[in-house]
Amino acid sequence: MLRQITMDIMNIENNPHIRTTCPTCSPHAPQSHEVLKRRGGNSGRGDGGSRNSGDLLVRCTECGTTHTITVEPTRTTEIRIIVSKDEDSERYMIELPLDHEVYVEDELLVDDPSADEVHLVEVTSIESNTKRVESEVAGEIETIWARAIDEVTVKITIHDRTRTESERLRVYGDKEFVVGGIEEIGRKRVKITRIKTYRDGFQKYAGDVVLAKDVKRAYGERESEHRIMPHTKENATRGGQDRYRRRR
Ligand SMILES: [Zn+2]
Repeated sequence: MLRQITMDIMNIENNPHIRTTCPTCSPHAPQSHEVLKRRGGNSGRGDGGSRNSGDLLVRCTECGTTHTITVEPTRTTEIRIIVSKDEDSERYMIELPLDHEVYVEDELLVDDPSADEVHLVEVTSIESNTKRVESEVAGEIETIWARAIDEVTVKITIHDRTRTESERLRVYGDKEFVVGGIEEIGRKRVKITRIKTYRDGFQKYAGDVVLAKDVKRAYGERESEHRIMPHTKENATRGGQDRYRRRR
């Protein structure tokens, strides 16, 4: 997810698009336009100052009409955002347009200037007027609470014949966990049997897919040794091939 979004940011910078009305094909409803040229304002990369202001020469992506629009500078606000990451939490500031509506479960990008990184986070709670709310415009928000979802720790409970153990897996938030799928955890091969999610309870049918950021806990069974080595005679005579076919 993070890689995807980073790419999108780069695309916006290299080949920016903007939604605005088109005098030819869409005079009343905003429509996607390619930005061809900027005049005035700054580079438009949002480095402060008169960010995003000035005249833009744009081309309608529907009908190809080229026209000039004037963009008012975006008024923004800095909001405190507390990002939890495993058991820790970090405090950052996020800059958002004043009228930008923030909802619980929204994904936001948070700059971490100390590490020169950008974190992808999911909003878990919004504080406005000392109350917790489900949504609010940026200008009215005191604090945003969020959890980091770019890299997450997935907890997996592994049943191994008579023992049950717990492992933690550090993965990208967009990594897919599949019920019935095999995860390599250290030297163990673990077949995922159920996944408890943050929002939708248990997923337990083979083929159910949950992204790592949504996994509250995964449950699995350790694949026994003979299935790790499909070439042994023992495996060939114990239905191992069947399992291998299903796994692919
Ligand atoms: Zn048009």
